[in-house]
Amino acid sequence: MSATTTKTTCPYCGVGCGVKVTVPSSQSEPVPPVSGDIDHPANFGRLCVKGSSLASTLKSDDRLLTPIVDGKQVSWDSALDSVSEKISQVVKDHGPDAFAFYLSGQILTEDYYVANKLAKGFIGTANVDTNSRLCMASAVVGYKRAFGSDTVPCNYEDLELCDLLIMIGSNAAWTHPILFQRIVEAKKQRPNMKVVVIDPRETATCDIADLHLAITPGTDAAVFSYLLQRSAAENILDTDFITEHTNGFQGTLDKALEVTPDLSSAAEFCGVSEESLEQLARLWLATDKSISFYSQGVNQSSSGVDKCNAIINCHLATGRIGKEGAGPFSITGQPNAMGGREVGGLANQLAAHMDFATPGAQKLVQRFWQAPNMATENGLKAVDMFQAVEEGKIKVIWIMSTNPMVSLPDTAQVRRALEKCELVIVSDCKAHTDTTAMGDVLLPATGWSEKDGTVTNSERRISRQRGLLPAPGEAQHDWWAICEVAKRLGYQSAFSYRSVNEIFVEHAALSAFENNGKRDFDIGHFSQMSKEEYDALVPVQWPVPKGRPEGTKRMFEDGRFFTPDKKAKFIPITPQLPINKASSEWPFTFNTGRVRDQWHTMTRTGDSALLTKHTDQPYVEIHPKDAKMLGIGDKSLVRLISSVGEALLKAKISQGVAPGNVFSPIHWTQQFANSAVVSNLIPQVFDPLSGQPESKHAQVKVEAV
Ligand code: SF4
Repeated sequence: MSATTTKTTCPYCGVGCGVKVTVPSSQSEPVPPVSGDIDHPANFGRLCVKGSSLASTLKSDDRLLTPIVDGKQVSWDSALDSVSEKISQVVKDHGPDAFAFYLSGQILTEDYYVANKLAKGFIGTANVDTNSRLCMASAVVGYKRAFGSDTVPCNYEDLELCDLLIMIGSNAAWTHPILFQRIVEAKKQRPNMKVVVIDPRETATCDIADLHLAITPGTDAAVFSYLLQRSAAENILDTDFITEHTNGFQGTLDKALEVTPDLSSAAEFCGVSEESLEQLARLWLATDKSISFYSQGVNQSSSGVDKCNAIINCHLATGRIGKEGAGPFSITGQPNAMGGREVGGLANQLAAHMDFATPGAQKLVQRFWQAPNMATENGLKAVDMFQAVEEGKIKVIWIMSTNPMVSLPDTAQVRRALEKCELVIVSDCKAHTDTTAMGDVLLPATGWSEKDGTVTNSERRISRQRGLLPAPGEAQHDWWAICEVAKRLGYQSAFSYRSVNEIFVEHAALSAFENNGKRDFDIGHFSQMSKEEYDALVPVQWPVPKGRPEGTKRMFEDGRFFTPDKKAKFIPITPQLPINKASSEWPFTFNTGRVRDQWHTMTRTGDSALLTKHTDQPYVEIHPKDAKMLGIGDKSLVRLISSVGEALLKAKISQGVAPGNVFSPIHWTQQFANSAVVSNLIPQVFDPLSGQPESKHAQVKVEAV
């Protein structure tokens, strides 16, 4: 047998790059380095260092190879029996809301679909949430408020076609490297293209910026309030678009005039010079081909949704949407944060982009699933879910492919919750993570290169992740484990999928069910798909309704939105500062983010020596003036203390953070050192609309050790 080369998708960030993997004919030979897929429209053959190092992460000494119950290896049958018996018992004794799934933007759309179907249609609870809540939930609500649907209007090509790119709360150079490379290339080709970075920190992304606005943390919305009122003052509003395609403009403009009446007040609120804000305004006024590109710096905020709508308001007012090189573009962090939300993988969603509040949707989904126990209202979002676990309301939680003991805010609370929970089920590839350490039942899961299914990237592009290598030990696909539990709960026929393509086809059929092609998310074209067609699926952007197999490159080109009257909605915004304010007790503002070569809690990237070389220790960036004042030297140990916890990190003296601010990457786990987990410091403060935690902002004190 000769070596085979297969196209698949990178498992890391939301860019969703196509990857080519050659599997040698003999299992004893190592998989050679992977290459970029030249035909994939996300990356056209490029890969960043994380993507190109994927082959070095395929062999791990720490794979979870067998099911484990209470510390003992057991058979799959025995583990699945334990899980289903306990779920049955708690649902009988305490009702369906005593059960919860906590899922992940790393799992595939098909895994999400069956978890959502089991919980919301058959067990009868909407307690299905995901670590995507930590990533893009505010962007989802922002889009819904404005457009009536969670719909990303733009595509990656628009980033190359725009004349002005405003990057807000994003260090794309490190977090979305291939998109950043495309932007760098576009700017080289068209030197008149301008890039503005709005970020309290000076990051690697600023290397290509014509202008960097180092705003006071949390003041993003005021920048866009000012741009809105300035657009009106300078007569660049698209009045035809506002009249024909929107509602609520005047009230929104009045609010912008009230909160940012002039350049001086806006600049003062944002902590930037009048000159730099004026420079941004002039760039904004000079072209209508502008993209606002925003990410976690906007979303991870107690007013993240408002920030998103402040950005969207500016695009609606100037008609900069549904056109080449224009639009408000939220970039997702994870490989499948978008795919999860397509199938209802958030607690406030139902399925197929329908919410519990969507008129008629609950009955429609019930009819489609033939569901015996439909949930009727929103479930608990991530932070609330773990609080309900601690309060004893949720008694069984099934955590899949994520490490909340490191990633959720206030990890001490997460520990208390999991210690109290009657049954913690953890599905993971790895045997030893901070969260598997808390599991009563561990289920060995297949990982990237073994799993088969689909993911959706930040530009709505559905791509295949393909299984290339055999599953090690007794590892099984997540969708299979969920279906086996469902069957044991008595739902055989609804969960009798023979292979993953049957799940995708059902999901496509639900998206188009009784909707006459009228729903915002419709991939009805795939509802009759054969296994061969699924295996050969090429990347395509949704919607893909019947009769439009090529998908949809750009949304809202006809100016029609998904609200009942088809008009987009302006949202009046009053910019809010973060909930926790600096005080004499907590004088430093603590910000979090990523390093270039690590991913999440390092369960995969930590296996690559090359990736670990870039940054091998957790650290805290501190401004030289603050370091001097506190007697802190470069690389010396410092203690950070917040109202909920502590961290002990090495100082990195840097001009990149402003005085009074400190920054740490998020990746290190308790396995490295309990004191290295920076989520220890983040209180459970979140946006009341999206439930997204304010992970970019905590108040701390800093001490030399
Ligand atoms: Fe993977 Fe993101 Fe790098 Fe592309 S940019 S190779 S998706 S990590």
